[in-house]
Amino acid sequence: MSIEQDLGPKLQHGIKKDEPMSAHTSWMVGGPADYFLSPADLTELVEIVRYSGRNRLPLYILGNGTNLLVLDGGIRGLVVHLGPPFSYTEPDRSSLRAGAGTPMSVLANGAAEAGLTGLEFAIGIPGSLGGALIMNAGAFGGYIGERVQTVKLIDFYGRVETISGEEITFGYRSSSLVGQGVIVEACLALEKEDPEKILKTMEKYSAERRSRHPSLPSAGSVFRNPPDRPAGKIIEEAGAKGMRIGGAEVSAKHANFIVNTGEATAADILALIKAVRELVKDKYGLDLQPEVRIVGEES
Ligand SMILES: Cc1cc2nc3c(=O)[nH]c(=O)nc-3n(C[C@H](O)[C@H](O)[C@H](O)COP(=O)(O)OP(=O)(O)OC[C@H]3O[C@@H](n4cnc5c(N)ncnc54)[C@H](O)[C@@H]3O)c2cc1C
Repeated sequence: MSIEQDLGPKLQHGIKKDEPMSAHTSWMVGGPADYFLSPADLTELVEIVRYSGRNRLPLYILGNGTNLLVLDGGIRGLVVHLGPPFSYTEPDRSSLRAGAGTPMSVLANGAAEAGLTGLEFAIGIPGSLGGALIMNAGAFGGYIGERVQTVKLIDFYGRVETISGEEITFGYRSSSLVGQGVIVEACLALEKEDPEKILKTMEKYSAERRSRHPSLPSAGSVFRNPPDRPAGKIIEEAGAKGMRIGGAEVSAKHANFIVNTGEATAADILALIKAVRELVKDKYGLDLQPEVRIVGEES
């Protein structure tokens, strides 16, 4: 039996075949996923995870696709998207429980409305909570890892597990949650604060983002910051601003962003990443490491 016949009828939203990943990534590039699934609830997600295990089909978990370069040949196996059914916020007196599909701005606003401080930094980060936990996303001196009380996930055998924050190691744009399963929910420790004050801080952060970040499609910062200086400054000083391959361009506004000017392919972006890396290595002997995750196959 095929996956469509076997698993399809059990899923409310069915299975999409050869779904273009360009429709699901902020760079708007990427070839087809063999099978694209959007589970309607936890039961469906568990069913999908078990099916992939039983049939030895690779499973790729997609949040909002804002830190991903999916190559033009696409992704083999299953891509599972945690979308709206996994987006919710449930504030308590000093914590916030939220689904892994919750956009980071919704999370920040949910906390603000409940008069809870600690997630102001998340406003404007276009990813989902699940992706943010994997990446230990952060901004303006805050990062998600420092707020984690518990994380609920489905391991690759389809079992529900709850891990406490102390069991997880968070580093600079990294976390030990990688490879442990599909994150479905987290509980975050926050403190009480005047909502007005929280909103003011978030407005300031949003304005800063608008002034610093390009508006064309991107995946945010391409390279990790070396310990002593921001990668953007180094790339700018190396003279890479405006460098272009095909439809991909090093942003003139922020040198650590590569933007899709309209017709970029993943191959253009990948080639530009390599070119910037080589330029910086030749000039300064420094090997910049990508922050974005490169997945799938070249065409
Ligand atoms: C304009 C712009 C600005 C940005 N600004 C910032 C910033 O200030 N700070 C920052 O840290 N990042 C920033 N980013 C990058 C990005 O938004 C973050 O890394 C975000 O956390 C990624 O979340 P996502 O849902 O898009 O994850 P995706 O890109 O979909 O996935 C990222 C990784 O997480 C995994 N993953 C996703 N969801 C789950 C899940 N539920 N369970 C298990 N694994 C999962 C994926 O398999 C993948 O390995 C920016 C991006 C853009 C486009």
